[in-house]
Amino acid sequence: MPLQDSSSTSLTELGQRYWLPVYKPRELVLDHGKGARLWDTQGREYVDFGAGIAVNALGHQDPDLLAALTAQAHKLWHSSNVFYTEPPLRLAEELVLASGFAERVFLCNSGAEANEAAIKLVRKWAASQGRPPEQRTIITFTGSFHGRTLATVTATAQPKYQEGYEPLPSGFRYLKFNDAGSLEKAFTEGGIAAVMLEPVQGEGGVVPAAPGFLQRVRQLCDAHDALLVLDEIQCGMGRTGTLFAHAHDAVRPDIVTLAKALGCGFPIGAMLAGPKVAEVMQYGSHGTTFGGNPMAAAVARVALAKLASPAVQINVVRQAQALRTGLDQINKELGLFAEVRGRGLMIGAVLRDAYQGRAGAILDHAANHGLLLLQAGPDVLRFVPPLTITDEELHAGLERLHAALQDFVAA
Ligand SMILES: *Cc1c(COP(=O)(O)O)cnc(C)c1O
Repeated sequence: MPLQDSSSTSLTELGQRYWLPVYKPRELVLDHGKGARLWDTQGREYVDFGAGIAVNALGHQDPDLLAALTAQAHKLWHSSNVFYTEPPLRLAEELVLASGFAERVFLCNSGAEANEAAIKLVRKWAASQGRPPEQRTIITFTGSFHGRTLATVTATAQPKYQEGYEPLPSGFRYLKFNDAGSLEKAFTEGGIAAVMLEPVQGEGGVVPAAPGFLQRVRQLCDAHDALLVLDEIQCGMGRTGTLFAHAHDAVRPDIVTLAKALGCGFPIGAMLAGPKVAEVMQYGSHGTTFGGNPMAAAVARVALAKLASPAVQINVVRQAQALRTGLDQINKELGLFAEVRGRGLMIGAVLRDAYQGRAGAILDHAANHGLLLLQAGPDVLRFVPPLTITDEELHAGLERLHAALQDFVAA
């Protein structure tokens, strides 16, 4: 019998009954948000330290995003790529100009699709150079996350995401993250078309590239005629305090992928292609029905302009400092974290050995105290709040975290 009432229990029962059971959401149903706050269907209020997995970078109900979306909604929703519309044309130019390296852009709907496009572009580039398929290897790193399609989950060097989906596509090789020595060795063995990595690993536990690592990867790629592909789907769009995370490392990539905060909650992804590869894919070699959708692009244009602004980037630095100070204070009292790491407003608190595997339990305590928090694997608490979070919101979030962690330790 269909469930009729809309209490949160009966709603979550719908999920348990009808969704493919691939998720395990916390037992609450979110209803609306404003800034860095959210309310559930019971009227309970939460501080948002997760931002829909680093997506809602401008918080909830940003008035400029809302205006862009509703204006476009009254004009045209979709045309597909057999006709031009204005928003994706403008967005492509704006992304190229903001990037400082790209010449062309491919718009799509998600991170996995952006990475899928990047993988295809690498192979097409290698093919255009006369390299046979077995010499088109893409190197990725332990702890990486690049998406859930068959190719991107294969690029993701974490067995837990791959188990049971064999046969996986070939052409990937995994090396230890931040280990320049093993990369040097792999290059001497030959056949490498590209190195693909996240400047700050997200799902893998919030792990930044070690100082100098990206530059070394760039040098090796140049020396061996391979491409550098940066997956900035989570760490890009201002999250680390610069629009692109790789600005911290002063490297010039060949390909960068974006998604998550690019649409601030409206689904959109992008692959940015530099001069080496911008002309490689020609008419008919790739495509998408929804990619470059005018609604998504209209929102992304505003998101890009705002996230690139000094005001947002200054706030990232300011709130990152406040968050780290708050975490240190909590840790002095409770001794839960072995390490707090990350860059800008992408911070991971690594649980001490005694608390390994307990991140999920902490998230339950946090939700009970009115704080929405994420984990990055079983041992790391992940903090990726809206980049526009205010002093007051951040302070309230830290107070709730403190209370939740006191609870957790006492339990
Ligand atoms: C989220 C994420 C992806 C996948 O994006 P989807 O939109 O979920 O397909 C890829 N790479 C990184 C680094 C991500 O954080």
